[in-house]
Amino acid sequence: MRNSTGKYSKQLSDFFKKSGNIVLVTHHNPDGDAIGSMLALYRYLADKGKHVSMVSPNSMESFLMWMNDVDSVIIAEKEKERLADAFRRAELIVILDLNQTDRTGIVKDYIEESSAPRILIDHHPGPDIKADLLISEPQFSSTAELVFALVNEMENNPYRNKSFLEAIYVGMITDTGNFRFGSYNGDTLREVAKILDSGIDKDRIISLIYDNFPLKRLKFKGFAIYERMEYMEEYSSAYIYLDQNDLERFDYCQGDTEGFVNIPLSVNNVIVSALFIEKDDHIKVSLRSKGDFSVNEMAVAHFNGGGHHNAAGGRYYGTLRECCSHFRNVIQNYIDLKK
Ligand code: 5GP
Ligand code: MN
Repeated sequence: MRNSTGKYSKQLSDFFKKSGNIVLVTHHNPDGDAIGSMLALYRYLADKGKHVSMVSPNSMESFLMWMNDVDSVIIAEKEKERLADAFRRAELIVILDLNQTDRTGIVKDYIEESSAPRILIDHHPGPDIKADLLISEPQFSSTAELVFALVNEMENNPYRNKSFLEAIYVGMITDTGNFRFGSYNGDTLREVAKILDSGIDKDRIISLIYDNFPLKRLKFKGFAIYERMEYMEEYSSAYIYLDQNDLERFDYCQGDTEGFVNIPLSVNNVIVSALFIEKDDHIKVSLRSKGDFSVNEMAVAHFNGGGHHNAAGGRYYGTLRECCSHFRNVIQNYIDLKK
């Protein structure tokens, strides 16, 4: 059983009661949990009559664009005026699904310059953020699940708004790979039961998240596996690398490579998997592992990043080729991986 979050209720609801203008912020390259937890909290607070602004540092992935209220999200990189206005009025800032302010990209300066009180709601280990209320619960499989628990504890009657429940469900399924990864437990499924009992259309949501891609994306996946995957049998590891030409060839849109990093883990021997994507000034790194091997530690030590025990990410500054060779060197230093 995980910790009870009841201890936060009073302080959290006091902050919400005191603040008319609230800014919600999530991380760069927001995933389903980042957006799901933000939209859910937005719906709850907006229903309480609050003026709420949602901020994403950059654009969202297309597989999330069907969600209710998603059009209201301020895309910081594109909407500087709306961003500045939201922070000017902010009486409370709530940071969701991240443990270092660097993860908010250009929004970081706005957060740090604001005198508004700050709340963190997150499930990554080792938060490195100063907050007036720090709600950091790594036992939760998603930030959305944590938001669900917090809202339920603040309300006497369960809050069962449909947009809220859908957003929570999206966060939960995307951060657990539709309840595949180890970071969920019986507590999570008991919460899911409450959501399903409230009558959300789970089949529609699953289909919109997982079966709603253009054909080119499936072909891109096939290409990545067949042409761009390197298997290091001796070290139970594999990686996929994609350069800018590859992205152009398959008409890449943000989100098209979502889930690619998990593919090599389906090979019976593979314990560590990586995905390297060439960006303009860095290589985006995604890492995944099975069991005891901590990719969080690997991301912190070798790839300027962090994350969770079995799912982490970061950046490499250099060429794609150098990044691959750096990974091969790093892997060879993990003696426990060597057969
Ligand atoms: P993904 O590989 O899906 O981008 O990210 C996997 C996990 O690693 C997520 O929990 C995410 O928060 C974390 N992560 C991804 N990129 C970074 C990064 O650059 N810095 C840190 N600290 N965490 C990251
Ligand atoms: Mn998350």
